[in-house]
Parts: sequence; C-alpha cells; structure tokens
Amino acid sequence: MDRLIPLGTAGWLPAKGKHTMSLAVEAADNLFLIDLGTGVSRLASPLGEEMLRRHDRVLVLLSHFHLDHLVGVAYLPHFLAGKRVSIWGPGQVLHATPTREILERLLAPPFSSLPLKDFPMDLEVVDLKLGAQMIGGVEVRVAALSHPGGSVGFRLGDAVSYLSDTECGSDSLPFVKGCDLLCHEAWVVRRPGARPVGHSEVEQVAELALAAGVQRLGLMHWNPGLDYRAATALLRRAARLFPNTFPLRELVPVPLQSLK
Ligand SMILES: [Zn+2]
Repeated sequence: MDRLIPLGTAGWLPAKGKHTMSLAVEAADNLFLIDLGTGVSRLASPLGEEMLRRHDRVLVLLSHFHLDHLVGVAYLPHFLAGKRVSIWGPGQVLHATPTREILERLLAPPFSSLPLKDFPMDLEVVDLKLGAQMIGGVEVRVAALSHPGGSVGFRLGDAVSYLSDTECGSDSLPFVKGCDLLCHEAWVVRRPGARPVGHSEVEQVAELALAAGVQRLGLMHWNPGLDYRAATALLRRAARLFPNTFPLRELVPVPLQSLK
C-alpha cells in the first residue's frame, strides 16, 4: 500500500523533538522525498533504512529554497549514495534561475566540502513547471503559493497534496479539490487584523479542507514558538471545523490511496 512517512514536521527550526520539513511518500515503485529539511536525517531510523533498502530510485520535490526546507540536501550523499536520484525544484518558476544553479551555489566551497557534481549518485536536477507533469509515472501538479520569496505546492494524483509554506487562501481550493489527504501547514490561530506573516491561520486551513471536500487533513510545519498547550489549542480549532484533522507525526506512517 502507498503511504506517507513524515520525516520532519517543524517549521523554521528543529525544536521540541521535531525536525524541519521533509515527507517521504512511498509507492510500490517509487520513493518521493518532499522537501529536504533536517527531517532527512530520520532516514537513519529503522523505518528510513527499510525504505531505502526497497528503493533504488528516489524522486525529490522541492517546494522552495528556504534553508529549513533544504539543508538536508547536504545529507543526501550519506543516505542516497549509489542510487538514481532526481531533484525537481522550482528554480525557474520562482526565481527564473535553474534549480541546479541554485543548489550548486549552496553546496559550493566554503559552505560544503562536497559540491553537487561530486555527489556519489546518478543525479539529475530538473526544473518543475506550474501545472501537471509526470514524475516517476505519477501525475504531479504544481501550484504557486503565497509566501515571501515564493513557494510551490504539490498534488500527487488524487492521493495527497502538500501545501507548505503559504498563507492559506481560497486560491488553493481548485488545486486541492477532491484530494484524499491534504497536508497543510498551520502556523497560528486566527488573529483578526494582524499583518499576514507568510504562513497560515489554522481556521482558514480547516475551512479550505471543508470547502475542497478532502477526506483528511494532516497538519504540519509546526511553529516552534507554540508550547504544548498552544499547539493543542490550534489542533482543536481545526478539528472543530473539520473533524477529520490530525497532526502529522514523525515516523508514524499514514496510509495513502494509490498515487496512480
Ligand atoms: Zn519558507
């Protein structure tokens, strides 16, 4: 069965036992990694090792280039040596710059001892386009989101959508409509009159899930500024509006509908 395994679910910085954003989506013949935050380090877990043993081909989808979603690119030589790896990024879409060039900048000396060209794997870097494209036999749809510097969201078939980082808005409705599982960031509770911060108010996320007719809402990209009580209150607010809401928990698999 296809499944999602959250590797990192925190926003901005690893805190309170959570790593920054990275989700693994495992189908019969493919392993996707969505974003490369510090959560990539969880591939060292027994569950991560088991996934890596099963898959020679790994497809990476990058939502944007902020470091909390990208620092784990430097961990790939450790985990993905010898594999066939494709990194699909929004360099052209967001910055009119090839994704490869942006990654090479990040991995050039003195920031890294191993430039991208020396990664010990069969590596290709491909630029995403907005709209639908086939990646590893799966239809992946890409939409621009509302975040400082830009970001994109993903939808894999009708099985799962991933929207982080973004201010939640009704613009996303057609994109996620009818999807089984919506994984969406939830950063704060509604603050009437407050200035937008490039992240989502949880009530809007729940309203989006309801209006779009998704079956399940998985919240993620936790705000490190929230203590346990505040995070619980945030979850409750969402569940009041959309009962089938749950938090994505790291290394706890979530069954998915078939991606194809
Ligand atoms: Zn960001």
